Amino acid sequence: MTSVLERFLRYVQIDTQSDPNSESFPSTAKQRNLSNQLVVELQELGVTDAHVDEHGYVYATIPSNSDKTDIPVICFCSHVDTSPDVSGAYVKPIVHHNWDGSDIVLPDDTSQVLRIGELHDLDQQIGNDIVTASGTTLLGADNKAGVAEIVAAAEFLLANPAVKHGDIKILFTPDEEVGRGTEKVDLVKLGADYGYTVDGEAIGTLEDETFSADGVKITIHGVSTHPGYAIGKLENALKIAADILAALPKGSLSPESTEDKQGFIHPVQMEGIQEKATLVFIIRDFSVSGLHKKEALLKQITDQVLTNYPGSSVEFKVQEQYRNMKEILDQHPQVIENALSAIKMAGLDPILQSIRGGTDGSRLSFMGLPCPNIFAGEHAFHSRLEWVSVQDMEKAVEVIVNLCQVWEQKA
Ligand SMILES: [Zn+2]
Repeated sequence: MTSVLERFLRYVQIDTQSDPNSESFPSTAKQRNLSNQLVVELQELGVTDAHVDEHGYVYATIPSNSDKTDIPVICFCSHVDTSPDVSGAYVKPIVHHNWDGSDIVLPDDTSQVLRIGELHDLDQQIGNDIVTASGTTLLGADNKAGVAEIVAAAEFLLANPAVKHGDIKILFTPDEEVGRGTEKVDLVKLGADYGYTVDGEAIGTLEDETFSADGVKITIHGVSTHPGYAIGKLENALKIAADILAALPKGSLSPESTEDKQGFIHPVQMEGIQEKATLVFIIRDFSVSGLHKKEALLKQITDQVLTNYPGSSVEFKVQEQYRNMKEILDQHPQVIENALSAIKMAGLDPILQSIRGGTDGSRLSFMGLPCPNIFAGEHAFHSRLEWVSVQDMEKAVEVIVNLCQVWEQKA
């Protein structure tokens, strides 16, 4: 058996950074280097149908070894790409064995220090083996920890036929970090009933909720004149836009003032000239009614500002972006129940939580594959301080194996 750590160390050294400015798919050809490698490894394990399709997705099946014929087909999914925010080239992973809790100074940039109290969950890891990068790159635990865990679980299942399971599907996607991870996925070909992304943070966590998300674009048409002869006529669209931003609530309903289950109204782009200006917002909430309330408030603020500019007008356009996957998961309670059982079987206290963002799982859920997110142990995502512990990765492998068994037992 190859350890999950060995696999992980191998995968993080393959640069798979995705590119938000690319029009091709996958956004960077180098992501295929890992996808191709994974197919070779799965084939070596005996997963004979493992292959990469023309878009860079890896599909594979571990066939059922159970006499039962009505076991739902379960998919485990991770993404091969890493964030465009930080370099993923020439990653030098370092294993800090039996970590004693002291500061971990990364050797290639000593200003990069992992310190208890500054990094979430790090204080839980004393005595464990922590993997970090060397200071100049991210580690890529997001989501190569998940990839390694799924392959390690596949190896375990194939080597232990006494562990009964139904058909298990494996899906490795490109371009999750640039929001395109589900763009070319073929769910008919995948043929799974339910899925789990393995891309979560702390050990024991299971995420069944994401934000619901809309975008709002406000286009402001001012009244433009020659500035030398503008008295009593000019209504400058730039100033109207600034007034709208200034009228947003202070100290509430913003990303910088909210947490947990609170949503927000967040301006992300502003451009224009005196005649015409646009403001782009993202609106986030865990419920659709909460989204609509925030949009109504933004509309009301806009209309109020416009009363000072009688010659000007606005267009207010709302566009749906994604929805809270809980809407779908609530219709399939066994998906969450079985995952909670699998986490408990691994001797862990399950923690059900929500994600203040979207996931590929939320998109997959609405595409017909209900798909919550299980922990992979990855921490400090998209940063040079990214870390994961070997012990958490091993527990994630155990949870994946348990989950395969739970679905078989309950069928
Ligand atoms: Zn991820």
